[in-house]
Amino acid sequence: MNPSVSPSTSKHAASRGAHAGTPSGKTAKPARQQKAAVYEVRKSPVHGNGVFALRAIPAGERIIEYRGERITWDEATRRAAERGGPVNHTFYFSLADGNVIDGGRRGNDARWINHACEPNCEAYEEDGRVYIHALRDIDAGEELNYNYALIYDERHTPALKRLFACRCGTPACTGTMLAPKKRTRKKPTPKSAGAST
Ligand SMILES: [Zn+2]
Repeated sequence: MNPSVSPSTSKHAASRGAHAGTPSGKTAKPARQQKAAVYEVRKSPVHGNGVFALRAIPAGERIIEYRGERITWDEATRRAAERGGPVNHTFYFSLADGNVIDGGRRGNDARWINHACEPNCEAYEEDGRVYIHALRDIDAGEELNYNYALIYDERHTPALKRLFACRCGTPACTGTMLAPKKRTRKKPTPKSAGAST
């Protein structure tokens, strides 16, 4: 019916149509080769895999998003139990809305960034997404790290402390990835005698 549309108009309309018709999440990933890699994952002297700067990174630069499946705390606890251990906070990232990002599933390289007591990076949440950015100027070759500040409400048993021992080796090392307990929640004591009703 309308065979002769101007080329520019039809081109514009076509690209828009293609975008609208493509379900989000299934679009082809943009080529990453154009951008020089900022970091690489390799064995860390501190623990397991680590993430290392491939070039100098200035303070404040956003390095990577912390990706992974978004789940509830109930699901996070269930998965931890399934693996037979305490909740593995080292792959879980708590969100302000009470949910958790499980970096162990559909996660990216950010999950390999190790903890340090005196870190060169910091994680922050923005609109429900978590990003790691440089806290100070970082040299090429430096291992990236941030303070996990793991919060465990339950008692910090020797076993738990051993599991989350820190070997970052910085002078300020506290020896643990666990954040000091801030809240002292009073648990109801079932045996308390003389409780008034
Ligand atoms: Zn440490």
